[in-house]
Amino acid sequence: MSVREQLAEVQARLPQGVRLVAVSKTHPAAAVREAYDAGQRDFGENKVQELVDKHSQLPSDIRWHMIGHLQRNKVKYIAPFVHMIHSADSVALLDEIQRQALRCNRVIPTLIEAHVAREETKSGMLPDHVAAFFAAGEHLRYTNIEFRGLMCMATYTDDRAQLAAEFQSLAALSREILRAAPQGSLPDFVELCMGMSADYDIAAQNGSTMVRVGSAIFGQRDYR
Ligand SMILES: *Cc1c(COP(=O)(O)O)cnc(C)c1O
Repeated sequence: MSVREQLAEVQARLPQGVRLVAVSKTHPAAAVREAYDAGQRDFGENKVQELVDKHSQLPSDIRWHMIGHLQRNKVKYIAPFVHMIHSADSVALLDEIQRQALRCNRVIPTLIEAHVAREETKSGMLPDHVAAFFAAGEHLRYTNIEFRGLMCMATYTDDRAQLAAEFQSLAALSREILRAAPQGSLPDFVELCMGMSADYDIAAQNGSTMVRVGSAIFGQRDYR
């Protein structure tokens, strides 16, 4: 099947209101172009260099999402144009996003990556740490970051019950944050970015507002 057909199939399976981020990492600009021509505008990459390269080669109305682990010293390369950073996983990284956003005179929409997976290898801030951060109002220091919600990477498993439980715990963490944060301080904290090719249906059933789907659209990745 073509990228266009696979994109249409994924979109048809997503409930209304769930935003699709097409994860184009490792695929050439031509593949992004094919999805773009079919109407897709949100694309996700997990490496800064690839994100910067594709941004320079492709139409300027594409909304680029940084979804992978982000090193502090590379924030400056994407700060001028990135649509959303999904993978803020430390206070030190938030400090750098704030610094670079200020330099660019931008407010950068950002998600906190929370570690809700049972698997120990996954990245992200511990849920208790995230909850305490917002309850203490620490987010109010970041004038150039718009806190838009939470993101998670689920455990790599085909146990659907476990995946559902992990997605539910991200949704519960979001509710807890909204309850505990200073009143009115998180007006845009609405996103739950969870779900990938293998599990976006389960994520959507459990409150996902945004899914990151790569191989189901672009085919298998070819890592050399
Ligand atoms: C690669 C990647 C995805 C997409 O994975 P698929 O299984 O190909 O859909 C989603 N999120 C992140 C953070 C990724 O790195």
